[in-house]
This record gives sequence, C-alpha cells and structure tokens, in this order.
Amino acid sequence: MTVILETQGLVKRFAGLTATDNVSFTLEEGHIHALIGPNGAGKSTLIHQLCGNLLPSEGRILFAGQDVTRLAPAARVALGLGRTFQVTSLLGEFTVRQNMAVAVQARLGGNLRIFDRMTGRREVWEETDELLGKSPLGKRADIIVDDLSQGERKQLELLVSLAGRPKVLLLDEPMAGLGHAESLDMIEVLKGLRGTVTILLVEHDMDAVFALADRISVLVYGRIIMTGSAEEIAGSADVREAYLGNEDELC
Ligand code: ADP
Ligand code: MG
Repeated sequence: MTVILETQGLVKRFAGLTATDNVSFTLEEGHIHALIGPNGAGKSTLIHQLCGNLLPSEGRILFAGQDVTRLAPAARVALGLGRTFQVTSLLGEFTVRQNMAVAVQARLGGNLRIFDRMTGRREVWEETDELLGKSPLGKRADIIVDDLSQGERKQLELLVSLAGRPKVLLLDEPMAGLGHAESLDMIEVLKGLRGTVTILLVEHDMDAVFALADRISVLVYGRIIMTGSAEEIAGSADVREAYLGNEDELC
C-alpha cells in the first residue's frame, strides 16, 4: 500500500476555537476514504487546508512524499491534488461538451476562454469525448449547462475536476442538495472512478458512504476518533457515543 496524502499533527485554530485538533491521517493510493462527523466537526476546515484555501496553524501536509503545507492551491492542483466541488465553476451558457473542453484545454495549456481557437485542437476534443463517453452525461453533451438538473451539474463539476487528471480528488459533500435518484446516480459515477483516482470523500449521506468507502474516518470536535472499515465504524460504541453526545445522527 502506498500513502499518497498524509497529514502530521495538523492544527487549525480560529479565534478561541480549535477546528482541527492534531489530525494525523493517511490516505492510501487507490482508496475511496470517507470522512464523516457531526456538523461543525471540522470536516470542511480539514479539506480547505488540504487544498490550500486555508493555511494550518501547526503541522504538515505531505502529498506524494512532498511537503505541500504552504503551497498555493493552484500549485497543489498542478501536482495532482484535485480541488473540491465548491471551487469549481461552470460556464452556464455553454454546453456540457464545451465546459469539458475548457477544462481539458486548461490542463493542456493554451488559450482558456477562446472557443474559436480551440476548435482546431483535435486532442482537446478527443479527450473531452473520451471523458464524457465514460459518464452518463455523455448522452447530454450538447445540452446547455443552465438547462441541466442539479444532479447533472454535480456530475459535470466532478468530470471537470477529472479533466485536470488529478491523482487525488477532495470532495466535500458531493451529494448535498441532490434527490434520492440523483444521489444514486452520483454513487454510480463515483464507483466508476474507483481505481483511476484516489478520493477523500466528506459526505453526510451514509448510504453513499457505506456503498463507496474502503476506509472511514470519524472526526469529532476536530479530532479523528476512529478510522476503520464500514463494519468497524458501524459497530463502534465510541462512534455511536460521539454522535449521541452531539444529539446528531450518524452523518
Ligand atoms: P464541518 O464541515 O464538519 O461541518 P467546519 O469545518 O465547517 O465543520 O467547521 C468547524 C468549526 O470551525 C465550526 O465550529 C465552525 O463554526 C468553525 N469555523 C469554520 N470556518 C471558520 C472561520 N473561517 N472562522 C471561524 N470559525 C470557523
Ligand atoms: Mg462542511
């Protein structure tokens, strides 16, 4: 097993509050690793430090063996540490296929926003269609993004992140706001990524977590109280107590 992402003694303090409290955590290459915990446990704060939107107060972040603790977000993306959902923005008045092409083009270099110049670049469109072909969205390639359902938009945001060919994807609640059927679609899309990209998945939807995760870590008051398989987490008295103590559901 290879560790691709690791934190060592990570601490993030906001005025009077320790949102990340000495978190040492490893992500194995190829895994889908879920991070769960009650509201306010510090899940998003941890993700923001991993992608570089927030600098830690203490500790280190290692990505593929390199210390990235103080690197800017764009430099981390360039190394293959993919951004979360919330950072991605889509071009609403363009088609699914055009949005994908912009993302592919961004990785290959060259003009970002000028479609006219881009139409000549065959490799951009080939890779765009290959990525779309593997997704249920392939059937919706010529639809304008503003006309997509919420679930389809989320799928496109995910595909756009993949266009950067990340080694690791950090996903902060990709099912948020989706209906039941849309969540099931998203679970299928994420399942299809297994083996091609390592994923750290923050998610409230426990059906999704149990369907997808190879490992689960439980964060409570900024600390990881347990890491284990789905069975170990579901059967843990400590985890149950932590959630009951918060009068919150297992999420
Ligand atoms: P989660 O994603 O697990 O719900 P967050 O990481 O969003 O939790 O928040 C963890 C704690 O840190 C919460 O108490 C939240 O209010 C606090 N917090 C998050 N961001 C900030 C910030 N920028 N400034 C001050 N406090 C913050
Ligand atoms: Mg959050």
